[in-house]
Amino acid sequence: MSEVQSVEIRPEEIMDKLVSLAKRRGFVFPSSEIYGGIASCWDYGPLGVELKRNIKDHWWKSMTQKRDDIEGVDAAILMHPKVWEASGHVEGFTDPLVDCKKCKLRFKADEMDKDRCPNCGGELTEPRQFNLMFKTFMGPVEDDSAVVYMRPETAQGIYVNFLNVQGPSRQKIPFGIAQIGKAFRNEISPGNFIFRSREFEQMEMQYFVKPEEDEKWLQYWRGERMQWYLDIGIREESLRWHQHTQEELPHYAKAAYDIMYDFPFGWKEIEGIHNRTDYDLVQHKKFSGKDLSYFSTEEKKRFIPYIIETSAGVDRTALVCLADAYHEEVVRDEKRVVLRLDPKIAPIKVAVFPLVKRDGMPEVALKIYHELKVHFKCFYDESAAVGRRYRRMDEAGTPYCLTIDSQTLEDETVTVRERDSMLQTREKIPDLVRVIEQKVRF
Ligand code: ATP
Repeated sequence: MSEVQSVEIRPEEIMDKLVSLAKRRGFVFPSSEIYGGIASCWDYGPLGVELKRNIKDHWWKSMTQKRDDIEGVDAAILMHPKVWEASGHVEGFTDPLVDCKKCKLRFKADEMDKDRCPNCGGELTEPRQFNLMFKTFMGPVEDDSAVVYMRPETAQGIYVNFLNVQGPSRQKIPFGIAQIGKAFRNEISPGNFIFRSREFEQMEMQYFVKPEEDEKWLQYWRGERMQWYLDIGIREESLRWHQHTQEELPHYAKAAYDIMYDFPFGWKEIEGIHNRTDYDLVQHKKFSGKDLSYFSTEEKKRFIPYIIETSAGVDRTALVCLADAYHEEVVRDEKRVVLRLDPKIAPIKVAVFPLVKRDGMPEVALKIYHELKVHFKCFYDESAAVGRRYRRMDEAGTPYCLTIDSQTLEDETVTVRERDSMLQTREKIPDLVRVIEQKVRF
């Protein structure tokens, strides 16, 4: 449409616009807001929870339903404390911190470029290691023997269950285990909205392979995971790879690649794809005393598999989707904010409107709404002028709006208005489920 003009938004403005849209439309709010919020914890509202659920469903389906070689688990958040000794988290999941001796504020040592406090100019202490795991106590006695940790990653719940899953599922190597769940990190500098928070969700898949096939599977999973982001509509030019240098590699990894996204605050990691070798299973074997090796009936030999990990964040993916989708346009001198979310992950798939609140239109619209909502997340709205109703749905990222008008009453067709192009077509009522299904299915 020639009357539509895209509005350029400066990168430094986008985050404020996103945070404000998220609050206004019920995607994300600060946690415990009536008490002034709690640092870097976020609550997802009606639209946010649908967006997150769609992201997770799409991941789960692509990992477990569409393939035969990956099984799911849902492990407990609280695990035996020895797990975190074996994994290296008790010893090494730390950031070096310095304290100001005068004002007592605490800073990340590697973010300090001088030895005086940036707040008051006071003298700083030597760096001390600060563990990022949240600690709590299990049972009524709060002593050292009762300490348990809130898991800082979901991966360990997969490693310790390797044989529990392999046995009953009768999977043969190569196979994977997938898990979606909450993780907790006492991050020193959380921020950038839901990019880095202290409580977040991960979608992790650990793929168990023959040691000599590690490189092949690492490359295979790089391809699959990049494609997944393209499948949920993320623009190719906003995605790129970062390969870890020897210095950057975590202690458990032989090779590591990150998928990076071009956020308004710079290129940042959204997912890690790592060759973790046999590190985790060897460690758990050592600490638990249980044999975590696998017996190959074809080769008649026993070995500890290597693990290729794909580790993504649900909240970061949600932020990627929102940032990538946010657009402002001027349409016939009027500003429109539109979230061009891929229909597969859009919170509401279809809005149903009677053109006016009379002539039997609301009755027909409600009937269609009740039929469609069995299939898709729908929204019914009869308030305000139809143009305003379209704009509200544009901001929510709803890909299709159906309007019931006088022609509907004559020929059983409705107007289908598409969010991005704003083009309108007419569809027969009995065809609606099929037509919409094709666009929103993943
Ligand atoms: P970063 O370097 O950004 O701290 P990381 O390398 O520690 O991330 P991983 O331990 O590899 O991250 O975790 C895998 C994924 O989990 C990340 O790619 C990210 O999507 C998500 N994630 C990690 N920490 C957080 C957090 N504090 N808030 C939100 N998501 C997170």
